[in-house]
Amino acid sequence: MRHDESAPPTPHRPSLPAAAVLTVLCLGLAGCGADGGGTAQAQPGKGGDTAPSSAAASTPAATASPSPSRTGPSPSKRPTAPAASGPLSGRTVVIDPGHNPDNHLHTAEINRQVDIGTTHKECDTTGTSTNSGYAEARFTLDVSHRLRTLLQAQGAKVLLTYDDDRPFGPCVDERARIGNKAGADAVVSVHADGSAAGNRGFHVILPASVRGGGADTSKIVGPSRELGTRIAGLFVRATGSAPSNYIGGNTGLDTRKDLGGLNLSTVPKVFIECGNMRDPKDAALLTSAGWRQKAAQGIADGISSYLNG
Ligand code: ZN
Repeated sequence: MRHDESAPPTPHRPSLPAAAVLTVLCLGLAGCGADGGGTAQAQPGKGGDTAPSSAAASTPAATASPSPSRTGPSPSKRPTAPAASGPLSGRTVVIDPGHNPDNHLHTAEINRQVDIGTTHKECDTTGTSTNSGYAEARFTLDVSHRLRTLLQAQGAKVLLTYDDDRPFGPCVDERARIGNKAGADAVVSVHADGSAAGNRGFHVILPASVRGGGADTSKIVGPSRELGTRIAGLFVRATGSAPSNYIGGNTGLDTRKDLGGLNLSTVPKVFIECGNMRDPKDAALLTSAGWRQKAAQGIADGISSYLNG
């Protein structure tokens, strides 16, 4: 069954204000989210977890007044949703957690060729994992949740292209379309690499200038470079990790023209490979919740710096 893009956001929307409030409370206590104990766990569920308590609290009063007012209370709750405020208020950020942990169960679907403008490519790939079996797709979703919390705390509207809410994918072309349709001010696709042991460090992947079919990156090459440069610089500061020693000549930046997620984007977008899962030292970082929080912070700082000019 094909999932419609309009379906996933609906159940998540009510949980956003509550998540933002929790974040603010947590950020008020220095370092309380450092090991992920507070922030990331505020929203691990399927999004419906915040609604029941407030709904239940209002029902006793409703029993006195029968039918007509029944539809009244729920819309009236809407104004209680706190308006997003902060330096990123009014900005939209799309986070794209690379891969899907169950892609390997759907090889036919993810091997389907999709049009990426310049050529055709697989819908998605399985992603890599550490030698001990920690999947890249689990890493990307965890960092994305942490990143979402940090950005929402600054008032940004944040959408995820995928949130453990479908059996496989989405395909790379759909991942790009989600950012485009949202009119995102910035999109970051979160990944970790699977290279040879000894290859270490992170790198940010920028869109090359490409044109063909539905792909035309001419308008996003410049802003995406700016976005990527800021993320790279602030990722170093937040994590202490060095730029890749095997790609990008120690700049932490690489440019590619073969990624559908970049080629089809019409809004500023970069990928980040946070480290190399197949290197034992990098894997020790990637499997640490504390380090993932730092990684999310570095990416958030980069996005924030870019959006604030
Ligand atoms: Zn990846």
